[in-house]
Amino acid sequence: MAIKQRDRVYRWITECGHFRISLVDASRLANDAIARHNLSGSSAAFLSEALGVTLLAASLLKSDQLVSFKISHPEQGELLATEASRSGEVRGYLQDEKLLALLQDNNGELGRVLIGSTMQLSWWHDRKPRHSYVPIEHGSLAADLNGYFLQSEQIPCFVLQTTQMATESRVELSWAALIQALPDSPADALQTMAQTLRALDLADHITAMLSTKISDPQEFNHKLLPGFDLRELDRYPVDFYCRCSKESFGRSLRTLPDHELLDMAEEGTQEIVCSYCQDHWYYTPDDLRAMVKE
Ligand SMILES: [Zn+2]
Repeated sequence: MAIKQRDRVYRWITECGHFRISLVDASRLANDAIARHNLSGSSAAFLSEALGVTLLAASLLKSDQLVSFKISHPEQGELLATEASRSGEVRGYLQDEKLLALLQDNNGELGRVLIGSTMQLSWWHDRKPRHSYVPIEHGSLAADLNGYFLQSEQIPCFVLQTTQMATESRVELSWAALIQALPDSPADALQTMAQTLRALDLADHITAMLSTKISDPQEFNHKLLPGFDLRELDRYPVDFYCRCSKESFGRSLRTLPDHELLDMAEEGTQEIVCSYCQDHWYYTPDDLRAMVKE
């Protein structure tokens, strides 16, 4: 029997009770996103990284909450947008043409493009957002998110991310991890964790773990953070998933004035492409006329 491999979020707590860990394997969904958006090189790696980091942030939520990220460049405006829920859905896109132009002006270095941009983090609850604006200072989503958590939560945490490309338009693996000290963790525990993480190259570490084809997560736990015993809290599958539909875009179309809907119907069938997932939706002249208010 073949079992379809799926991406997952794993959540653990250390037996000492001082740290909570979220680990995201976003390798497959990253490839799904890259194919949908037809990306390659730095753009492909950047969207993969952003999807993993967004899922990390979502792992801190309660069920039915959402988190979204938007990265805006001071001159070029929006470069990337992602969104993830605690139920394991993530979607996102980037403005590839703008990004490629900026990369060209910056020696192809993504970090240089990002420094000076702003990361808008929005936490959604009951459809109401709470926004935070984080200036990107390190040029890496993981490092800048780390700074944000430190400031906003006032508790030490460590965000790690690695994306390795197999080819120009395919990732080999894309992982992200968040290790969060729980309130009142003693200083010596923090120091031990910081030392463990300094010695740990996430990319090498995960590659080594994968190459041993560990299938028992308990074994996987012991190898993740040497010196710390972990207890699994939960794990759940994650996918690139967009909730757009002909219905949902139809609701937006219906807000247009009647004369515009009628003009569009005159022009013929209209196509809408979802920027998050690149699915195409079609509205015939009959569909459009039916939207005109009585
Ligand atoms: Zn969509």
